[in-house]
Amino acid sequence: MSTQVSETTTSSSAPPSGPLITVPGLSSAEPSPSPDTTSMVSPSSSEQPVEPEPAPAPDTSPAAEAEPAPAPAPEPAPAPAQDPNPAPAPAPAPAPAPVQSGTVVVIDPGHNGANNEHPEIIDQLVEAGFGQTKPCNTTGTSTNDGYPEYEFNWNVANYLRPKLEANGITVVMTRDSDDGVGPCVNKRAQIGNDANADVVVSIHGDGEDPSARGYYVMTAEQDPAGAQMAAQSHALAVNVRDGLSGIGLSPSNRLGSAGLWPRNDLAGLNLSVRPTVMIEAGNMRNAGDADLMSSPAGQQQVAQGLANGVLTYLGSG
Ligand SMILES: [Zn+2]
Repeated sequence: MSTQVSETTTSSSAPPSGPLITVPGLSSAEPSPSPDTTSMVSPSSSEQPVEPEPAPAPDTSPAAEAEPAPAPAPEPAPAPAQDPNPAPAPAPAPAPAPVQSGTVVVIDPGHNGANNEHPEIIDQLVEAGFGQTKPCNTTGTSTNDGYPEYEFNWNVANYLRPKLEANGITVVMTRDSDDGVGPCVNKRAQIGNDANADVVVSIHGDGEDPSARGYYVMTAEQDPAGAQMAAQSHALAVNVRDGLSGIGLSPSNRLGSAGLWPRNDLAGLNLSVRPTVMIEAGNMRNAGDADLMSSPAGQQQVAQGLANGVLTYLGSG
């Protein structure tokens, strides 16, 4: 959800830092075309060092230990890209325990592509829980280059979906296109409730001051379904946080605490009676985060982190 705090146009000139990361096992489904599919820049990998993939053990010779990975002549590894010294890829996630049959995950990609054309719809106030009201929806934020949050949310959702379905999970989406209007935030929460969702994941990108970077995972400060459901949402949030960090992303340097942030002002959390998290995957106004969030590789990285977290949560329940 865009917090609508900052529409500043001050552009951060901080160059992205950190090694190039090649993301393994990417889905072949790509909701949006882009030339950059082979590598990405982690904006903050200095804080979350990526574990190197262990080099394949060459075999018997004891000399091999002292001389890692000498490429023998006959089959040189094909150069992966333009970078002659690629950083090690993130370690593959441990295989999660299988989920129970009948498991339902609701994915809620925030906002929608035609919201900005229909203020008469999205500006209407709707119930937001605990006596609050909120606009039906908002347009969301964008990068300084104009890459819209709704598209980021939509792409991540569509990268995430097959990763869950491959584990036998039934996925319900709160919207079925990226060029529509709404639905309203209270309706999105109702979709999760009506589906009796085992997990609800609402996906957003932030529009904060450019100095903020990194993701955070929000849960309801006051859970409408009581303490037990609050505990489940918290466990889900911790797993999703660990999933995102485990794939090489960094928690926010300024917002929330250690990647977690309980909130009392968000309809999607206040109205959900199922285990629910809402993520701000990064700050689209931060140059490094913007690079990541507007690239297919970065979107797939976020989706993989979400999938790992959700599957860990479901496997542990
Ligand atoms: Zn948003």
